[in-house]
Amino acid sequence: MKKEQEKEMEGQPLKQTSSGILPGEGQGKPILWIVVPCYNEEEVLPITAPMFLEEIETLTDAGKISDRSRVLFVNDGSKDRTWEIIRQLAAENPHYIGISQSRNRGHQNAVLAGLMEAKDVCDITISIDCDGQDDINAMGAMVDEYLKGAEVVYGVRSSRQTDTWFKRTTAQSFYKLMNRMGAGVVYNHADYRLISARVLQSFADFQEVNIFLRGLVPLVGYPSAKVYYERHERIAGRSHYPLRKMLALAIDGITSLSVKPISIITGFGTVVSVIGFIGIIWAIVMACLGKTIAGWASTVCIICFLGGIQMLSLGVIGEYIGKIYLETKRRPRYVISERTWEPYERHYKG
Ligand code: UDP
Ligand code: MG
Repeated sequence: MKKEQEKEMEGQPLKQTSSGILPGEGQGKPILWIVVPCYNEEEVLPITAPMFLEEIETLTDAGKISDRSRVLFVNDGSKDRTWEIIRQLAAENPHYIGISQSRNRGHQNAVLAGLMEAKDVCDITISIDCDGQDDINAMGAMVDEYLKGAEVVYGVRSSRQTDTWFKRTTAQSFYKLMNRMGAGVVYNHADYRLISARVLQSFADFQEVNIFLRGLVPLVGYPSAKVYYERHERIAGRSHYPLRKMLALAIDGITSLSVKPISIITGFGTVVSVIGFIGIIWAIVMACLGKTIAGWASTVCIICFLGGIQMLSLGVIGEYIGKIYLETKRRPRYVISERTWEPYERHYKG
């Protein structure tokens, strides 16, 4: 890279080149960044991207947000044309910008990457899925709540009629299980929420690697509000959350926010031990009375039962040890390999 070029770039720190702005520069109005995680979404992105832009324009015209607001797409290591589409959108309209993760890291990390990217250059962020399932028009009400003083605004689904029976039932059991297990989450709230840059600055101190945003955001505190909206069907493409991934998310959520399962195991272990102790006394008494039982079946049942419980208990404890293992490594939670406003070549060539 040439010396003059390098010099020129020195004067352009990343934070300013990303949107050309710093927070508070929105002429008295909050600068909004809509953070949209995208994984293999080539089918739906061209449809929903203009909808996000339109919402920004509506809110700007209504005088609620600054016209320096942006739509930030986070490409989560897609294998299809998603990143190309994002780059194309960014080239067409300065309101669209994008970052790309070096590989697929999952929805939660993609949202986190976008929020962390946004926190120093905007006043408020709204995270939303890119499939159009969450009502984009609810953003206006969210911004209103922010202007009234809320620092976090949760988007809550008022009905799930459009979800399949299976999705609805599993998702609702998920919220109930989470709360019962001690991981406080807002009922029927997924990852559609407004978070102010102030909250994100505090949230940046939550350095954990196992992230479950729904459970973590309430832990940060600050005044919050709820906005209700109807959940629609996916506009195109298909869900990336099959039952297997939902279960993984539930286990992750519970084990990263609560130690209740370990207490349950301890309680259960105590009960089983007491029963076992009574059983031993009973066996000794029977033996003394000379009434020994030729109970093969009962022995097998007891062994199987205890074997199963022990394996399950070890599994739960193992989950926590696994988490500790990952936390101690302190690996980065996301790796941004490209930005639409920053040519790849700048870092890796020259
Ligand atoms: N997503 C992601 N990384 C993944 C899986 C999903 O960034 O590994 C994004 C996806 O593009 C979408 C959002 O997360 O914007 C929610 O995913 P999806 O709609 O498939 O889940 P569902 O709404 O069915 O629970
Ligand atoms: Mg979806």
